[in-house]
Amino acid sequence: MSSSQTGDGMFDFVNQYFDHAARWSDHPQGLLEQIKACNSVYRFSFPFRNDDGTIEVIRAWRVEHSHHKLPTKGGIRYASHVDEEEVKALAALMTYKCAIVDVPYGGAKGAVQIDPKQYSVEQLERITRRYTHELVKKNFIGPGIDVPAPDYGTGEREMAWIVDTYMALHPGSLDGVGCVTGKPVTQGGVRGRREATGRGLYFAVREAASFADDMKALGLPPGLEGKRVVVQGLGNVGYHVAKFCHEGGARVIGLAEYEGAIMNTAGLDPDAVVAHRKATGSLLGFPGATDIPHSADALELDCDILIPAALENVLTGGNAARVKARIIVEGANGPTTPEAEAVFRDRGIMVIPDLYANAGGVTVSYFEWLKNLSHVRFGRMNKRLEERDEASFVQALESLTGKKLSDEQKRTLVHGASEEDIVNSGLEETMIVAYHAIRDALKRNPKLGDLRAAAFLTAIDKIAMAYKELGVFP
Ligand code: GLU
Repeated sequence: MSSSQTGDGMFDFVNQYFDHAARWSDHPQGLLEQIKACNSVYRFSFPFRNDDGTIEVIRAWRVEHSHHKLPTKGGIRYASHVDEEEVKALAALMTYKCAIVDVPYGGAKGAVQIDPKQYSVEQLERITRRYTHELVKKNFIGPGIDVPAPDYGTGEREMAWIVDTYMALHPGSLDGVGCVTGKPVTQGGVRGRREATGRGLYFAVREAASFADDMKALGLPPGLEGKRVVVQGLGNVGYHVAKFCHEGGARVIGLAEYEGAIMNTAGLDPDAVVAHRKATGSLLGFPGATDIPHSADALELDCDILIPAALENVLTGGNAARVKARIIVEGANGPTTPEAEAVFRDRGIMVIPDLYANAGGVTVSYFEWLKNLSHVRFGRMNKRLEERDEASFVQALESLTGKKLSDEQKRTLVHGASEEDIVNSGLEETMIVAYHAIRDALKRNPKLGDLRAAAFLTAIDKIAMAYKELGVFP
């Protein structure tokens, strides 16, 4: 998607952000060093036999960044350019992300160095099962140890193979299904996980836009209504955030994928664009839109909100000065380099940082894991009970007022919460509470300079507290 797809320096970037924020904390240096360090790095290779009989060696990783809470948690990425630095950076981000949204895990990340588009489904299944097997051998996976999830290049299908392989190796394991999240609902997944990262991003930007003072400082009116949005990446995250922004009253004026971008100032319907891309194999040529052949140019479109939702290091010292958005919402992990960040700070652009903004995925992964451990679907025990209570309330209301409610009114009032309602409401609560926490941290200490530093400091304080509770540090 970007010209810079490697993780060169990415762990360094995360640590620079960490150090910048840590200057405003008074934790002992040793504790800060422990929080920053990657605790375990498992680097391995395994052979893969191609259909023509040749053998290929596949490189893979699982990094557990922090064990201050267990299990560790984080996605598995399939990408040809992935390297160890990148996996370490992404694992570290998971630690800070989980702390911000109060999800009780340490951070982790995995990767397989392949371009999944070059392999058949059957080959991908073999690779995924072998990868899982390697994790099992070294105790790098398990519901109480380390719980992977989807990331760039993987999805529900891969998670289903992982849980199946794990269960085959742990027959009879009562909680084994909680060894991975992001599974299909039929395989122990939870409703709402697929949309969760995009929906979380939408809640994040909606909450940020609700503060009239903050919007005024950016020269914008409050609220999402009518705001012009550009999204880079139409994968699971990009597509869903575009869809929720569109449904929430914003105007999606630009969409970008690796083959190019399209723009229409009157607004684009993300569902129609995705259908067009499916039918033609490209975003380009969408009826009524202008083609932008060089995808990265979309990042510089005139808009209010820019959402990079593909890969890291796409906003750099090279293009930051040309970005016209007033708000950047980081759907991807690490899309902004520190150099770009400094430019955005100077230019008064609001960056809603990855470690908060895209935490909706892991938040709902947490709900899925809770569902797996409790062995019951959310809502199963109380949905009908709630409906019965609400129906009695409606009856009482009707007899007191002597008026009859319409069927439509009754349907709104008598509605027991389903699994999806509960998951989405838990996600909304989490994203709102966490936004207030980081915004308040910035208000209390304006010298932090931006929401990213405030988010890092919030995370550092929470992890330091956890270490103190463990008795590791006084
Ligand atoms: N890969 C996602 C992330 O970077 C989700 C991780 C998870 O659900 O564990 O946040």
